[in-house]
Amino acid sequence: MTALRSINQDDLRNHNLSVIIDTILRSPMPLSRADLAKATGLTKATMSLLGALLLKNRVVREGNPETSQITYGRPSTPLAISHGRWAGVGLQINTDGYGCLAMDLDGSLIDSAWVHDDMHEARPDHVFSSLDALVRPLEAKLKRKRYRVVGAGLALPGLVTDDMTLLMARNLGWERLDLSRFDLVQRLDPIAGNEARLAALSQIPGYATQRSTGGGNDLLGPTDSFLYISTDIGIGGAVVRHGAIEAGDHGFAGELGHASVDLNGPTCRCGRRGCLETYAGRKALVEAAGIAAGSEALSSQAMDELYRRWQQDDPKAVDAIDRGVDAMISVIATAINIVDVDTVILGGFWSNFGGDLAQRLQNRLNQLTLGRDAVHVRVLIPSRTPNPALSGAALIGLRRFIDNPLGFFDD
Ligand SMILES: [Zn+2]
Repeated sequence: MTALRSINQDDLRNHNLSVIIDTILRSPMPLSRADLAKATGLTKATMSLLGALLLKNRVVREGNPETSQITYGRPSTPLAISHGRWAGVGLQINTDGYGCLAMDLDGSLIDSAWVHDDMHEARPDHVFSSLDALVRPLEAKLKRKRYRVVGAGLALPGLVTDDMTLLMARNLGWERLDLSRFDLVQRLDPIAGNEARLAALSQIPGYATQRSTGGGNDLLGPTDSFLYISTDIGIGGAVVRHGAIEAGDHGFAGELGHASVDLNGPTCRCGRRGCLETYAGRKALVEAAGIAAGSEALSSQAMDELYRRWQQDDPKAVDAIDRGVDAMISVIATAINIVDVDTVILGGFWSNFGGDLAQRLQNRLNQLTLGRDAVHVRVLIPSRTPNPALSGAALIGLRRFIDNPLGFFDD
């Protein structure tokens, strides 16, 4: 009876600590203990006790007293997320290379490394051991700086099951890959996930790191809903509802790239015809513009050439992009009709085509979605993060700490 009682108290304390950390991360402005008590519904006494525990374990530090917010004659001292103690590690294997990244709970990037490589027919064992070698210096740096690594994520361009099997990543040519057999996975125990889903997480302010405070120019709020589209050779997507991913019953939701826009269209790698990917994927566009074909169409140089020709109004390039835009609009409008969100975030190489293209998508979507009389759709291009999925992978690692802070405290 006694044991059960103490477990419950620890659970409650863990839950409360988690809620406090979440509240600090999501807030666009610094919060004092009194602000936090008000926001979380905790008593001031409990807040004071838990605040001391967070200070002791270097989750938070005392910020500068806000003299502008003097209440009852005393300036309030905000609790800010500490720097230099808690880190998440992101890992990614993508169609254009692989890399790693470490992120501080306060939102600052600790370090990252990326290797551009031709991943066409790359062998899994070779890629995982190369990534292992790449991440070791990062781990050493974290150790040197006395960081505590609380978790890791692994972003992959395919379907990943909960039991760490990569079911398929067709653009890598990998199928039914048991991820747990790799040394790297055994050592860092990452949460593996689809790259589009992890990239979507990186767009949610305060999801696992301190939201930028003071600026107030976030495009989204922490509990907003949106459709994220990740564009590369393949096209993936994720639906975020009220700040959380809608993963589906098997974790496979959001595969927009394989929505068919033409039953008589080109055969896709998935076996169906006319998938979005066959019109708007990176390789498909390069081929349609007559720049390169086959494995040569996969290179980043081919992509740069497409972008250059499109800017110079080359008819074939313009035509390819226009068809890609039509296919994108068709699928996004369908997705909006199905999941009912009003915000679309365009990530990956399509975002290179700039704000005019986003505006064009937005205008057409606002003419095509069923709810157009009541809902204004907006299409946003996120600020340039080189690898949003890699950041998202580090964030999902940090979430392990935020969801279970007591599990990481020294006593
Ligand atoms: Zn397909």
